[in-house]
Amino acid sequence: AAAPRGSWSSESSGSSSGCWEPQYRVVLLGDPGVGKTSLANAFAGVQERDLLEQHGEVAYERTLSVDGEETTLLVIDAWEPERRGEESWHRSHCLQVGNAYVIVYSITDHGSFESAAELRIQLRSMRQAEDIPIILVGNKSDLVRCREVSVEGKSLQNHVPSLSPCPVSVPVSPPRVPCRGFCCAPGAGDASGAVPPPCPPLAEARACAMMFDCKFIETSAALQHNVAELFEGVVRQLRLRLEGKEA
Ligand code: GDP
Repeated sequence: AAAPRGSWSSESSGSSSGCWEPQYRVVLLGDPGVGKTSLANAFAGVQERDLLEQHGEVAYERTLSVDGEETTLLVIDAWEPERRGEESWHRSHCLQVGNAYVIVYSITDHGSFESAAELRIQLRSMRQAEDIPIILVGNKSDLVRCREVSVEGKSLQNHVPSLSPCPVSVPVSPPRVPCRGFCCAPGAGDASGAVPPPCPPLAEARACAMMFDCKFIETSAALQHNVAELFEGVVRQLRLRLEGKEA
């Protein structure tokens, strides 16, 4: 049963110490509007009726049975966008406390994919010595006609225009933006102010995730598609690292 929680802290459970912990903190990262709260709710099984009652809650606890063994995840939905000139303690805290990270973008918003790349880089620099599971998630996979980020790198130039208007604009030509992360080989473009190469037309999420050593999955929080698989995958990744430390 889902048990939403109202608070969380780095002392509550889990650590990178390598000891078996019954509970792991999984932090959701990503731009506003990509579906982090929807994924957290889908994970926790919160019905729409309950959402109002739980307004302000930031973490959801649930025990999953994966491969015959139970593990409790505390899914933290507290990430806030950066505001100009604002103290970033809260963001740093989020990047420090997770035992695993789910970086979410929307497949209908290429900008959110680029933000996901930046978040991966921030995480890497902040948790350098640690091998923490990171899952890249392309959410809103149900919005197929509005797709701006491809999975396998197939060109979306022959993208069939939607019959009804999409909630977000579909680019007429593929965006050519400076690469800031997943699209380029590690280190590309970051030496001595060299201009990074442009992203390939419409990024290739799976290849980029591989390059940055993340797992990748597409989900639809709206249709509950792949949500269970996502969090089961997080559990498996956590266990793999635990086994590695024990070996
Ligand atoms: P957050 O700001 O990242 O927490 O995003 P929310 O969970 O609040 O979702 C933002 C909007 O996207 C809401 O209107 C959701 O109903 C919608 N949304 C979230 N996930 C999906 C999805 O998988 N498919 C569709 N079609 N809409 C979604």
